[in-house]
Amino acid sequence: MTDGIKPPLRRTLHMAVKTTSIDTLVVGAGQAGIAMSEHLSNIGVPHLVLERARIAERWRTGRWDSLVANGPAWHDRFPNREFPEVDPDGFASKEQVADYFVEYAKQFNAPIRTGVEVKKVVRNVGHQGFTVETSDGTFEASRVVVATGPFQRPVIPAIAPKSERLTQIHSADYRNPQQLPEGNVVVVGAGSSGVQIADELQRAGRRVYLSVGPHDRPPRAYRGRDFCWWLGVLGEWDAEVMRPGKEHVTIAVSGARGGHTVDFRRLAHQGVTLVGLTKSFDGTVVTFNADLADNIARGDENYLSLLDAADAYAVRNGLALPEEPEARIIPPDPACLIDPIFELDLVEAGVTSIIWATGYAVDFGWLQVDAFDEKGKPKHQRGVSKEPGIYFLGLPWLSRRGSAFIWGVWHDAKHIADHIATQRKYLAYYDAAHSHAQPQRETGATEPKVRKVSEMNLS
Ligand SMILES: Cc1cc2nc3c(=O)[nH]c(=O)nc-3n(C[C@H](O)[C@H](O)[C@H](O)COP(=O)(O)OP(=O)(O)OC[C@H]3O[C@@H](n4cnc5c(N)ncnc54)[C@H](O)[C@@H]3O)c2cc1C
Repeated sequence: MTDGIKPPLRRTLHMAVKTTSIDTLVVGAGQAGIAMSEHLSNIGVPHLVLERARIAERWRTGRWDSLVANGPAWHDRFPNREFPEVDPDGFASKEQVADYFVEYAKQFNAPIRTGVEVKKVVRNVGHQGFTVETSDGTFEASRVVVATGPFQRPVIPAIAPKSERLTQIHSADYRNPQQLPEGNVVVVGAGSSGVQIADELQRAGRRVYLSVGPHDRPPRAYRGRDFCWWLGVLGEWDAEVMRPGKEHVTIAVSGARGGHTVDFRRLAHQGVTLVGLTKSFDGTVVTFNADLADNIARGDENYLSLLDAADAYAVRNGLALPEEPEARIIPPDPACLIDPIFELDLVEAGVTSIIWATGYAVDFGWLQVDAFDEKGKPKHQRGVSKEPGIYFLGLPWLSRRGSAFIWGVWHDAKHIADHIATQRKYLAYYDAAHSHAQPQRETGATEPKVRKVSEMNLS
């Protein structure tokens, strides 16, 4: 995707024009940036999307080789395009997801410039808007939409041992079993990433220890409907706040091998050794919390509660969905659950690798505006920042549970576009009353002229 400016001409322009003026600058061309661009295009807001790498780069290079979407293709997509080569009930591969977004951006000719990193955003002093420094020059923007992803910086907890003999990687850097040295593996974290990686390694012949914390584990499907559908009709995707006490609860789902329910007991019967939360390392010995049984029991509760809610919904609405009593059968407890391991000597156990599937943090070092609380968390309402003109998109729970997911971000982007349009209308009203203002520009990608108030972000 280009902005239509050919490279040699762009270089010439750059020599002559140091600063580019734009109404709205979107940072990041993952699904969030593309959704934002679509909605801004629909309402005619001049904008530009800057992406430091390629479109949907994280789906291309920030995921392991065998990853497929966690939701079926009919669900994990934007409303205005289907996956061309994936069965609607199937699960798109990470490459198919990336290709989908490239094609989606082409569909409405999204103004995206790739290979441009935003390095600094500051609010202007003495005049309106923001100055944006990038690897390809400076921009003046009335508004900036931050669409740099919910999962930016892989987090490895401080307890990680400092050991030369161990290979330690974050799940963001895991690609395939062959990448790891010979030997057994500890996988820390049993959300969707940890559980899928542990499964893959075990199937590749590794002995795997999977450290399981608190988790939700919805059924892949129940009564002929995928859990994405159930969460939708039950209003769970639209939940606006995390339930108290659920802040550290991860969700364990998998679309791998055609999709299946994550069942820790089955994984253990298959050969994976389950252990509790990883507590500490001392020399070659790792200690686990005595919480495995509890974590598994709560995961079961969560699983069964969704079946209950689904059954109640089916009765209430008279849905003729086939009953599925066998979904309530919980397999027998495996040995590692009956008699859990609390300590493991990594050398004796032949462990040569640790994979930290321990989540991500955000990194807004480049965004030097008054949009954060004292802990550095973005302060916003449905993505509209407390710093007027700054918007956040794609963050977990931005407006609801679905916000960081493919289908959810599209709706959040619509809300933000709406907010931007409303602000522009207020300012246009002011301009109309001041007929001496300059005529409005058609496109933002030009040298700034005298700007009308409607093109500014007033705070
Ligand atoms: C392993 C994994 C599997 C997932 N599976 C699913 C799934 O199946 N279904 C689903 O709905 N969701 C899934 N998600 C959640 C979510 O959909 C993805 O994380 C998705 O990539 C988020 O899209 P985004 O556009 O918000 O952010 P990203 O995809 O992270 O895109 C942000 C973009 O911003 C760019 N960028 C960052 N900083 C700058 C800068 N300073 N200047 C310029 N560009 C910058 C990055 O290069 C990147 O391309 C998954 C997440 C993970 C980690």
